[in-house]
Amino acid sequence: MRLKDKVAIVTGGAKGIGQCVARLFAEEGAKVIACDMMELTYDTPNVEYFKLDVSDPEGCKSLFDYAVEKYSKIDILVNNAGITRDALTRKMTDEQWAQVINVNLNGVFYMTRHIGPYMQSLGSGSIINISSVVGEYGNIGQANYSATKAALDGLTKTWAKEFGMKGGNVRVNAVAPGYILTDILKTVPQDLLDKFAATTMLGRLGQPEEIAKAILFLASDESSYVTGTLLSVNGGMRL
Ligand code: NAD
Repeated sequence: MRLKDKVAIVTGGAKGIGQCVARLFAEEGAKVIACDMMELTYDTPNVEYFKLDVSDPEGCKSLFDYAVEKYSKIDILVNNAGITRDALTRKMTDEQWAQVINVNLNGVFYMTRHIGPYMQSLGSGSIINISSVVGEYGNIGQANYSATKAALDGLTKTWAKEFGMKGGNVRVNAVAPGYILTDILKTVPQDLLDKFAATTMLGRLGQPEEIAKAILFLASDESSYVTGTLLSVNGGMRL
């Protein structure tokens, strides 16, 4: 029970990696608020649903108020909600650009600007931003997505400094998954997925549970001296 009595918020918790994180956290003893635009695709004790579009700043404030009112603390925030709207740069529309920035980058800011300082005032907390191998290495057709994920690295380091100071003791880290078998990959052709698998040292794509376990490490006290870092979980991939 590595998260006994902890209160955790997981964005994009309805399916994919977010679902695995919410369920694993609950198994480890946490009370979990799984926020998403869509309803949860599962029913697990100690995981409650909160309807939220992270690109809505007022919605993020409402979630923060709800969590503080109900639990009087927030121990863990996982900024996991993310989308892709892929196109080569010369074909990318303003809408595709803006949608990805609004969810993947602005959404992380809207959540953390309330929760980070609150954790700091309580004197403890762990924030994990879900980045991507594409933020580290770039990828053809993902200018919008790679820009948001690379930006999370700067936010992670900045917030590790900001919320860790003055006795804040808030740790802020990022996880950069490689290619993980969830719905976000459903528009990627199989031959390309095979190619990505071949570029890993392990010769395969990842499972969402393998990312959830890395996030659990950063959320728990087992990583009590880890902050401001980016943990790549990609089977040894180099794009
Ligand atoms: P997914 O599509 O399976 O799940 C994403 C979840 O986020 C969905 O439940 C969706 O409804 C929710 N969501 C989307 N927009 C939202 C919004 N505006 N507000 C609230 N919730 C919203 O994707 P996934 O693979 O589980 O991805 C989770 C995170 O991991 C994302 O940030 C993604 O960029 C990142 N990631 C995934 C991979 C991969 O290969 N699967 C690789 C690197 C990084």
